[in-house]
Amino acid sequence: MGQELLGGLAAFDCARRGLRVLLVEKRSFPRWKVCGCCFNANAIAALTAAGLPNLLRYQGAVPLDQLRLGWSGKTLNLGLPGGWALSRETFDQALVNAAEAAGATLRFQTGAVLEEMSKGGRMVRLRPPGGAPVERIKAGVVLVAAGLQHQVLSPSHAASSSSKPGSRLGAGCLIHEDGGLYESGVIHMAIGRSGYVGLVRREDGALNMAAAFDRALLKTSGGVARAAEVVLTQAGFALPRLLESSRWQLTPALTRRAGLFAGHRFLLLGDATGYVEPFTGEGMAWALAAGAAVAPFVEEAQGEWSTDLERRWQRRLVDLTISRQRLCSVLSTLLRQPLATKAAFSIGCQWPAIPQRVISSLNQVSPLMASS
Ligand SMILES: Cc1cc2nc3c(=O)[nH]c(=O)nc-3n(C[C@H](O)[C@H](O)[C@H](O)COP(=O)(O)OP(=O)(O)OC[C@H]3O[C@@H](n4cnc5c(N)ncnc54)[C@H](O)[C@@H]3O)c2cc1C
Repeated sequence: MGQELLGGLAAFDCARRGLRVLLVEKRSFPRWKVCGCCFNANAIAALTAAGLPNLLRYQGAVPLDQLRLGWSGKTLNLGLPGGWALSRETFDQALVNAAEAAGATLRFQTGAVLEEMSKGGRMVRLRPPGGAPVERIKAGVVLVAAGLQHQVLSPSHAASSSSKPGSRLGAGCLIHEDGGLYESGVIHMAIGRSGYVGLVRREDGALNMAAAFDRALLKTSGGVARAAEVVLTQAGFALPRLLESSRWQLTPALTRRAGLFAGHRFLLLGDATGYVEPFTGEGMAWALAAGAAVAPFVEEAQGEWSTDLERRWQRRLVDLTISRQRLCSVLSTLLRQPLATKAAFSIGCQWPAIPQRVISSLNQVSPLMASS
């Protein structure tokens, strides 16, 4: 019986344990995606737990040791405990290469949709590229790691996610000739009244920009590049060269939660389970932590499937990620209140040890990850 999977790290870990793995990806790789490209200590702990401790370094990732926050013309510099910047093209390709080397079969440009149960397995419909006929395969376990607003499950399914009202939209772009104003090794984070913009220099020297904007700002500013300009100016950051002609990509509403994290012969992981607005590069760490933890559940499901296994996966995800998302959620709510942001910034500028402790706590390696 085949395993049908989405999710690079999970595919790698399942394949190296000798399971039959099919990794299905809708797009062709390597591909750029909206993301800040920043990996924290938790992300590294998850990669290490799954057996890929040097993946970032071997791909030429840039060490990050500083977070520079800008708000209303003031700057607050905080130390970062061991972060890395690596483009998603490079990182995601390296992960799927590792999965293939471990024995997984890869299918790109193929959309997967979960279908009905069949004896001892779950049917999955695969839509190959170029109008080739649709295939139906049976999988022992389907891992749904298909991002924020995927269509692997029908929208009416309890495990599909819904967004929180008023949630910001994500956006990102890449600038190659930006003028070099933003130095390498630093996460530059501009906080404006209706959004924020993170800027990081990647391993190829390009400037990666990733942002979250209120819908109202996107409407009134006349485009995403203009919205970024508004936030950067409010924060007191310089405008990168070519910003006005940069090409931005938007994401669906960011803050969302799936109703369920598992169902009969399928488990959800990563953004598919839910997401809160990014702050200092947590999303990939959550997705990788789940990817590094799921293989034992897949192994167990080689026998009978049980609702107890679904419940245990749900609990594992809550321990690994959901409880950590609460702090990010509190921070992003706080940064949306002008008075609270002003107070937080004044306190932070006077007593940097306080925000430094928050950053350390966000970057602290989960004891669950450290022990796996
Ligand atoms: C503005 C912004 C900035 C961010 N910055 C950071 C950061 O600096 N650091 C950090 O750690 N995180 C950051 N994140 C979060 C991070 O990008 C995500 O949390 C992470 O990519 C989640 O990984 P995933 O594997 O769950 O989903 P994804 O990375 O979205 O991967 C899902 C994959 O599934 C594929 N897919 C979707 N549907 C199907 C289908 N039906 N069939 C086959 N394939 C399918 C997609 O094409 C995609 O390649 C940021 C997010 C945003 C929006």
